[in-house]
Amino acid sequence: MTHKFIHDRENCISCGACAAINGIKWKMNKEDGKADLIIENITNDEFELDMETAESCPVNVIHINDENKKKLI
Ligand code: SF4
Repeated sequence: MTHKFIHDRENCISCGACAAINGIKWKMNKEDGKADLIIENITNDEFELDMETAESCPVNVIHINDENKKKLI
């Protein structure tokens, strides 16, 4: 199973929640202040934290697709 993060970066409001929760996969960009997705792949072990990360985004610009590209969030 390979789920993937999808980031609608254009609409990121630079709140920092994703990077605070999941600093390995999300980092704040020092140039424009928006979040950068560092690792898009999601293993089974990582799924719970990665889903929490997506849910933490106040403007819902973090999505997760399953292996069939079906949007889960
Ligand atoms: S949680 Fe959402 S709005 Fe906040 S920095 Fe991350 S992607 Fe941007």
